[in-house]
Amino acid sequence: MAKIVHYRGKCIGCNSCVEHCPTFWKMDEDGKSTLIDAVDKGQIFVKQVDDAFLEENKKAEKDCPVHIIKVVE
Ligand code: SF4
Repeated sequence: MAKIVHYRGKCIGCNSCVEHCPTFWKMDEDGKSTLIDAVDKGQIFVKQVDDAFLEENKKAEKDCPVHIIKVVE
């Protein structure tokens, strides 16, 4: 299964990932986005993604202005 990696520390809070896939992403109180229910690897967050949400998250990866979302297949 593919996984998403979010280098959250460099998030600028643009909301683009939330717009692409609100099932996986939300904005948080500190102004950064959060990958919902991801595993915290020390400011790097990882979550598996099944086929149903893969394309939405690939778009989020592509459109993140600071390139801190990686979809690994
Ligand atoms: S698209 Fe990138 S910079 Fe924008 S909120 Fe999501 S992770 Fe942060």
